[in-house]
Amino acid sequence: MASELRIPVTVAEGDGIGPEITAATRRIVDAAGAAIAWVPITVGNAAYLQGETSGVPEAAWQAIRVHRVMLKGPVLTPQGGGYKSVNVTLRKSLGLFANVRETRALAPYVPTRHPGMDVVIVRENEEDLYAGIEHRQTAEVFQSLKLISRPGTERIVRYAFAYARAYGRSKVTCMTKDNIMKLTDGTFHRVFDEVAVEYPEITAEHMIVDIGAAKLADTPEDFDVVVTLNLYGDVLSDVTAQIAGSVGLGGSANVGESVAMFEAIHGTAPDIAGRGIANPSGMLMAATQMLVHVGQPEVAERIANAWLRTLEDGVHTGDVYRAGTSRERVGTESFADAVIERLGEMPRQLTPVHYREADLQVHLSPPVPVTKVLRGVDVFVDWSEGDRAPAVIGDRLAAVATAAGWTLKMITNRGVRVYPDGFPETHCTDHWRCRLFPTDAAPARFAQVLELLAAVDGAGLEVIKTEHLYDFDGEPGYSLAQGE
Ligand code: NAD
Repeated sequence: MASELRIPVTVAEGDGIGPEITAATRRIVDAAGAAIAWVPITVGNAAYLQGETSGVPEAAWQAIRVHRVMLKGPVLTPQGGGYKSVNVTLRKSLGLFANVRETRALAPYVPTRHPGMDVVIVRENEEDLYAGIEHRQTAEVFQSLKLISRPGTERIVRYAFAYARAYGRSKVTCMTKDNIMKLTDGTFHRVFDEVAVEYPEITAEHMIVDIGAAKLADTPEDFDVVVTLNLYGDVLSDVTAQIAGSVGLGGSANVGESVAMFEAIHGTAPDIAGRGIANPSGMLMAATQMLVHVGQPEVAERIANAWLRTLEDGVHTGDVYRAGTSRERVGTESFADAVIERLGEMPRQLTPVHYREADLQVHLSPPVPVTKVLRGVDVFVDWSEGDRAPAVIGDRLAAVATAAGWTLKMITNRGVRVYPDGFPETHCTDHWRCRLFPTDAAPARFAQVLELLAAVDGAGLEVIKTEHLYDFDGEPGYSLAQGE
């Protein structure tokens, strides 16, 4: 049974159908015996209308920070006028590092080609290419920095395993592209292998994301929990929601170290707002995730099983109603009544859910000290003289480097070695990465790097950026070029 202590949860009803589905959800959660004290707050359109461009007024911020758990209805983001998305604001400001999206097939009540699928995508939410650090470096070349941190990775991977344990799931699949990105994606894979050892009851597997995505789209019933980096997770969570056919019925969680926010996947459905016909299921499923998060898995389980039973009994809102499989077309409130009537009952055809008490708080390992030695430098040069013959820039730079006490190891163009010994077939842009090491092979000093750059600049070559080549505990902290 739920603890006697009532846990305060901020609740924002949102816009459009938000107030209707929030009221229905709250009623079901209360009827199920949740030990929750609702703390209503306002975000979204009402806040925008008061001139709050973030959509989150000060009073709401305070309540969210104090109570740390939020159930949120969908909100609209007004077009133009400098308004910011409430979701992006909350995610970034509160450090909500994990995005968790559950997609479960509900066949035959919701048509899908994958009746057995029940997949959760746990997506890292803060790092990767979404840091949005981009530069144009030459006339032809643009870059976006992919930043992956070890603690950021450990947090999301630990959360995925803790989630699997709490929700009675048996497998976690990690998807990366570490055959290509050995340092960034390689770190994600390594940390996954390390953490997996602490969860012997859960099967851990790794797939390269391309074949993993293909298998997920083809045989989603073979997957359980998937943990992955931000960009891959963004794509994969849309794929799974789409093929489950139940975007309107799924919940999602955005979890941070101190705050967690739960919401439906769908939006404000302005076309049906105010008519009392919206399906509250997405928000209800978000509420069950919220209940597991606050340590009331038995209440979440009661609700989820009663909800499955309601769908099985053919009591459906208009979006799910199909002549043949449905028995009764109901509105939002009647659907909530039907779920409440079935509290304590189990589904007979759909698989019942079973949630466990588990610690979803992520505890990170302490930082491990490393020895870092500067070995060399990659100097990036913008050069497009003549017909861009690599030997021309290579010989010129090699001479400058030698005079400055450095040795030019090689030059690559878009990662392919073109000097020395490149292939004439390689297409060269105006962007040259030149790898240099001190000639005496001793650890480099930053002052030496500056002297080298001054010499390169003095020789009329345009330096656009540098990357230091460090060894960490004797291991190179940089990728080797193709052919190096
Ligand atoms: P939507 O999800 O609101 O609606 C898409 C379709 O699904 C509509 O036909 C709608 O009637 C139907 N639908 C959605 N939820 C339903 C429910 N619970 N019951 C029955 N039918 C439902 O998507 P949209 O139309 O692209 O977006 C509308 C607004 O919602 C936009 O302003 C968008 O910015 C916002 N939005 C907010 C969130 C959020 O707050 N998390 C997410 C997505 C979209």
